[in-house]
Amino acid sequence: MAKQINCPCGEVVRGETDDELVANAEEHIRTAHPEQVGQRSREDILAMSEDAA
Ligand SMILES: [Zn+2]
Repeated sequence: MAKQINCPCGEVVRGETDDELVANAEEHIRTAHPEQVGQRSREDILAMSEDAA
């Protein structure tokens, strides 16, 4: 099932799989929140996620 993260900055990051969601979230962090690079583990990212509508 697709999942998404509602980032506090207003961006919605989606992925069709856990791996894709984590990759997309890490890419979003790199581009939008470079100060947080390396501070969000895969587990943290998945814990923030919810099922996409
Ligand atoms: Zn963001």
